[in-house]
Amino acid sequence: MSQTELSEIGEFGLIERLTRDFDPKNDSTIQGIGDDCAILSFPADKEIVVTTDLLVEGIHFDLVYCPLKHLGYKSVAVNVSDICAMNATPRQVTVSIAVSAKFTVEALEQFYEGIRLACRAYNVDLVGGDTTSSMTGMMISVTAIGEVEKGKAAKRSGAKVNDLVCVSGDLGGAYVGLQILEREKYVFTQTGSQSIKLEGYDYVLQRQLKPEARLDVVQKLASHSIVPTSMIDISDGLSSELLHICKQSGVGCKVYEEKIPVNVETERVAGEFNLLPLTCALNGGEDYELLFTVDLNSYHKLAMVADVRIIGNICDASEGSNIITRQNERIPIVAQGWNAMKDK
Ligand code: ADP
Ligand code: MG
Repeated sequence: MSQTELSEIGEFGLIERLTRDFDPKNDSTIQGIGDDCAILSFPADKEIVVTTDLLVEGIHFDLVYCPLKHLGYKSVAVNVSDICAMNATPRQVTVSIAVSAKFTVEALEQFYEGIRLACRAYNVDLVGGDTTSSMTGMMISVTAIGEVEKGKAAKRSGAKVNDLVCVSGDLGGAYVGLQILEREKYVFTQTGSQSIKLEGYDYVLQRQLKPEARLDVVQKLASHSIVPTSMIDISDGLSSELLHICKQSGVGCKVYEEKIPVNVETERVAGEFNLLPLTCALNGGEDYELLFTVDLNSYHKLAMVADVRIIGNICDASEGSNIITRQNERIPIVAQGWNAMKDK
């Protein structure tokens, strides 16, 4: 396929190429891309939630193994995940990019194809952004806007003693998926070998490369009239997120090892790297599942919500935050979460 240099079409030409076919779908989007600002309007009984993420090439993503289309999808999905973590419904996103001359128009169109797919999947409108150049590499900033019924936003600070601790999906997969990609990148860069082995790793690779925001869980909770007392999305590992909730709510927790959901493929791949599946679930990052607490009275309603598990309960702060192992040992939870600021 022929490749077009960015300099050939200029900034305005590029914006036009990238942002066509993004017609707004939500009632709250009065006007999308094309003016100095987008215009939004929300019903009076809603509160508005806003979140931003900044992603930097070489720090948050590696284009050696992350295709641009997947990166576009993931950039939107992780912001939608933050909106979901407030028990809110995502409505709009803006996407700003800084790119160096090594990127072609066609490559950026791939990135926007991923954004388009995510916008469709989560029913959000791309309503603006900014486009500029960088000295090296790519930077992506996505802002997402959502709405939630007044008083129903789920904060990190709302967990109460005796609440149930719940988690959606399964954990650790994205982390072991990353280990596979890093291993194959190493083999490729060290030996130039073309025999990259990615077969048999479908689930964990998909968990790393194409994470999904759990909007479906937010919708299912609402349909069963369950309002979480607190909620957070799992981007840095279960341990780190549990401690955020406990600290901000002024409580402790007991979480049972045997209840923590780990996929069989995640277990197998963890074994290949001599890692304990529990460690991957507790300290691995980027699963983008939801961790939340609900009042004990919601126990029966919760049983009807698919793909959600009760993993423990909230207790008094004086009891601390602990994992209860299969051997019935009590291990204090420490935050060793995946952290972009730490050396990896
Ligand atoms: P301004 O000079 O006000 O920054 P621009 O010419 O940069 O305006 O942008 C024109 C329109 O295109 C605006 O609606 C802006 O939000 C949108 N836009 C610019 N860059 C992007 C992008 N990378 N993704 C989505 N929308 C964009
Ligand atoms: Mg601009």
